[in-house]
Amino acid sequence: MKLILLGAPGAGKGTQAEVICDKLGIPAVSTGNILRAAIKNETEMGLKAKSFIDSGALVPDSVIISIIKERLAEEDCQKGFILDGVPRTLAQAEALEEMGVEIDCAVDIEVSDEVIMQRLSGRRVCSACGASYHTLYKPSQQPEVCDRCGGKLIIRKDDEPATIQERLKTYHQLTEPLIEFYRQRGKLLEVDGQGEVADITAKVMAGLEAVSK
Ligand code: AMP
Repeated sequence: MKLILLGAPGAGKGTQAEVICDKLGIPAVSTGNILRAAIKNETEMGLKAKSFIDSGALVPDSVIISIIKERLAEEDCQKGFILDGVPRTLAQAEALEEMGVEIDCAVDIEVSDEVIMQRLSGRRVCSACGASYHTLYKPSQQPEVCDRCGGKLIIRKDDEPATIQERLKTYHQLTEPLIEFYRQRGKLLEVDGQGEVADITAKVMAGLEAVSK
């Protein structure tokens, strides 16, 4: 299965990708995670991407397309994959088609801007292992301490309120048109992304089953 997860930042793409990739036995490919690792390792690509990410802008298409070309050529992606957070522009979607990638389904996880603001402003991540928490929905046992590794929990720089607004604006302008792009190709599955994580996963899995028949 070759899947794309569409949806605004904070719609729950990463959370769903983690669960669904376990269920389907295929890797989740997150350009956001690849870029954050590059920044942490201070690679040339990381240095180039950092200012875009910190300001809530998109990283240039050329950088993303080369990341994805390299990642999808790896052995573990040959049976399928879940793309989390890519494509985010029409140019990226067209580049995937030009690469000969045939998508089975693009799942659009739909969440209102109001809920996105609430979700992202409460998000905390572990500065050591990257585990994700939420002050309301998934608090750590001890405030500001990671349950998994004891690392310090921090607010992602791009989860500051002004940056969230910027990311939402970018989403509506550049990424939302992809919903129509995949609808026209008969590949779109729309799922309400508000509610319990397990219920949303169940809706996605039921939709995918219908697609694969
Ligand atoms: P994410 O973790 O998916 O929310 O990504 C965090 C940030 O990385 C985004 O706000 C962008 O700045 C950058 N990024 C991740 N994926 C892409 C992409 N496909 N195209 C452009 N920028 C991206």
